[in-house]
Amino acid sequence: MTALQTHNDPIDIPDGAYVKRPDYARPYVTMSARHRWSKCALSAVLPQLRGPSGPAADEGTSAHKVAEWALAQKFKIGPQGIPAPAVQPPAGLHDFDYNPRGIADWQAQVAQHAITYANEAAGLYSDVGGDTHCLIECVLDTADLCGVKVACRADLVLWNPQAKRLVVGDYKYGRSPVGVGTADEPNEQCAGAAVLWSLQAPHLQPEQIGLFVYQPRIRFGEAFQTLVPSHGATDWLAVQRVALESELVAVAAASASAARGELVDPTPGDHCTYCPSARWCPAAAAFGAKALDVEANRVAVVDWTPEEVMAIWSMRAAFKQFEEDLKERVRILHEKQHPAVTVKWRKGSPMWLSEPAAVEAFMMADRYDMLKPPAIGNAAGIIPDSELAALTGRYPDVPTFAAVDGKNPALAAGSFAKYLNQEKK
Ligand code: SF4
Repeated sequence: MTALQTHNDPIDIPDGAYVKRPDYARPYVTMSARHRWSKCALSAVLPQLRGPSGPAADEGTSAHKVAEWALAQKFKIGPQGIPAPAVQPPAGLHDFDYNPRGIADWQAQVAQHAITYANEAAGLYSDVGGDTHCLIECVLDTADLCGVKVACRADLVLWNPQAKRLVVGDYKYGRSPVGVGTADEPNEQCAGAAVLWSLQAPHLQPEQIGLFVYQPRIRFGEAFQTLVPSHGATDWLAVQRVALESELVAVAAASASAARGELVDPTPGDHCTYCPSARWCPAAAAFGAKALDVEANRVAVVDWTPEEVMAIWSMRAAFKQFEEDLKERVRILHEKQHPAVTVKWRKGSPMWLSEPAAVEAFMMADRYDMLKPPAIGNAAGIIPDSELAALTGRYPDVPTFAAVDGKNPALAAGSFAKYLNQEKK
């Protein structure tokens, strides 16, 4: 346990941001953050720095709006034959062509993704008869589960009473891969929503179950990923319910500890990325301090045992989070013209102001050899499949290094700790 120090607010927070403090008497989690609190209960009880939404989030909101229209058309909800809602790309998107052509391309792509999403979802019922009920942005909040209020809004819940088939879908418009997972380790958000459905509608127990994640702009892997647990839906849901309840019990215990003025131990890992509580997290601070010792030659990475190296490797996201946090604070200090910050300017690299105009210029110069084809994923539907198959191949598989024993936070932290007490040589 760590002594509770959650009132050390950052002295400089971004404009429009605010600190959300938990109410320890009423623990609360959102299903969308389950990937984090299921692995680190502390993250559910620390304060959170909430910022205004950025261009990427606003783009996702627009894409969801169009997706809702596509689902309503596909599943015949409300007025039919109406055009897609008019959405505009938010300002500030990275590498975006804001010329009329670029905006029109973006709008066409958003609409096409939405239609594919609806078609793929409906295709999951192509083998069964009867009506399929489509619940868009389905709210599945619980009043209290294991002492914790769980807020859950599923992008899509489909239910066919005839087949007793339940499908929970998630539409992701970001590019970092999310994935639907496996039967043993399913996408936490979708599986959690399925459990809440079964709790809220005990008279509608599914006999078949499916999950899917549609992420049209994913960089690697399939855009539409489905998961159909091979064993019976009831058994699978029961296992998932036990898993969810044990995570919530840990959150409730973390909240009770925090109410007594103590923090449960943090569990750093990949889920630390973008953790809104990192500024108050003892692990993020401790990892940063220890990394600085390495940088200052007080300790050396070569002194670690292979097991310690792999334990730290498994937790490298915590370092990344620390660095991101540090960068953000320096940026804000500079923005607020704090005297501790000085700036050295490096001349910016040249850039094309308009890639389409640059392409046109090379074509006019008859230099087709200077043109680069787009990402392969964007070629589908433009070049026939057979031609695309003949033109494309795959890079060799890329190795990903992982610790045989998985994550081991205690060993990772301990491997630093044993050096912390050493005298500086
Ligand atoms: S930064 Fe990581 S270890 Fe710390 S609270 Fe967040 S998820 Fe937990």
